[in-house]
Amino acid sequence: MVNVGHSDNPLRAAIIGSGPAGFYTVNHLLRDPALQVEIDMFDRLPAPFGLVRYGVAPDHPKDKSVAATYDKLARGANYRFYGNVEYGRDIMLEDLKRHYHQVVFATGASDDRHLDVPGEGLLGCHSATEFVAWYNGHPDFTNRQFDLEQENVVVVGMGNVALDVARMLCRTGAELARTDIADYAMEALRRSKVRQVSLLGRRGPAQAAFTPAEIRELGELAGADVRVSQQEAALDAVSARALTANPDKNTDKNIACIEQYSRSALTGRDRLVTLRFFVSPTQLLGHADRLTAVRLVKNEAYLGDGGTVRVRTTRQEETLPAGLLFRAVGYRGRALPEIPFDEKQGTIENQRGRVTTAAGVPLNGLYAAGWIKRGATGVIGTNKTCARETVGCMLEDLAADRHLRPDNPAPEAVERLVNTRSQNAISYHDWL
Ligand code: NAP
Repeated sequence: MVNVGHSDNPLRAAIIGSGPAGFYTVNHLLRDPALQVEIDMFDRLPAPFGLVRYGVAPDHPKDKSVAATYDKLARGANYRFYGNVEYGRDIMLEDLKRHYHQVVFATGASDDRHLDVPGEGLLGCHSATEFVAWYNGHPDFTNRQFDLEQENVVVVGMGNVALDVARMLCRTGAELARTDIADYAMEALRRSKVRQVSLLGRRGPAQAAFTPAEIRELGELAGADVRVSQQEAALDAVSARALTANPDKNTDKNIACIEQYSRSALTGRDRLVTLRFFVSPTQLLGHADRLTAVRLVKNEAYLGDGGTVRVRTTRQEETLPAGLLFRAVGYRGRALPEIPFDEKQGTIENQRGRVTTAAGVPLNGLYAAGWIKRGATGVIGTNKTCARETVGCMLEDLAADRHLRPDNPAPEAVERLVNTRSQNAISYHDWL
């Protein structure tokens, strides 16, 4: 038998998920001209590109432009796309093992984390995930309703998603018109009565999870001022000590930008974004099942194990009026049928991308890449390095003859299978 990866016996690889991690895996697999590879990519949605299409904010066209690179790969001779085909429903692990030498799971992190405070079930409380998917036209979310008649909105979290949500809530009609937001969302946001958006960080400015470019962009909104109190913007003694021990340029830039906001005068724009630090929601209050306010407790910092700045609650409480709340406290991966899953991390059990049992034993031919491998961290480009590591393991295993032994690796066999399982499977050309 000819070795796998040669023209007589090309490597047949399946990738589950067509987001950035999936496409960077394709990219790395195609880099070695000596390796003959055929890649089939499956997605439960009809359209490819995952988070680039449904997660990146519509006012960030530069971040979306990577789709052009993915498109080039998708038009290649050794790539096939099967949209509307879901792993665990239309195609099972057993099927993949019959048709492929290697399988990569790149399914991202589609679930969101919860606040775990009383009142989270009140009307008006949503995950940022829902809102982001809604304004990006994700087919599962087009019917969602958000009460944009409310004047006061709270966004819990101090990461890039929290900033995306705040920006989209505050963009003027003219600004929205320059984005590729879904039409229905643009109409709803144009009519919105939202006036105040408060972002709540449980730790301080030095621990904010957003990137400097994103926090600076918040100050460039045409229709909103940014406010933060000088007291909450000031670097606390615990964080100052931690920063001296572990300096970080991006943290310095974030702190400087936040201090700048605290010194700037308001200009009387229609909307106001308030950044709050060292506060945690303890209860969501409502009337007739609808959110009306958020009970907050003030936190104080202390130095935890390994020099991490942690917080504990104080006795100081306050109530913030809010008719709408978005939790933007991070995403979580969703377990996949028959694939070992680390519930605590929300990731597939893996070592450097090789899927393993919970005890750390590698499972032949199975790999993971992207958020489902490492958790929901990093920007789109982080998936390049992540996929490179996974593909490195795949090639190492191939060289050592460690791979699945498909009894029917012919591409036509997969096409026949898919057509019997999914009524509306679509190819890349169909989608174009
Ligand atoms: P994230 O970066 O992990 O930020 C989550 C935020 O929620 C942190 O401020 C965290 O605070 C806070 N948080 C977590 N649990 C909380 C709780 N129980 N109560 C209050 N606050 C809580 O997550 P994300 O914003 O969802 O972003 C996910 C990833 O996508 C990130 O890597 C992000 O950079 C990336 N992304 C990038 C862009 C961009 O490049 N423009 C845009 C969107 C998303 P602690 O730090 O205290 O835990």
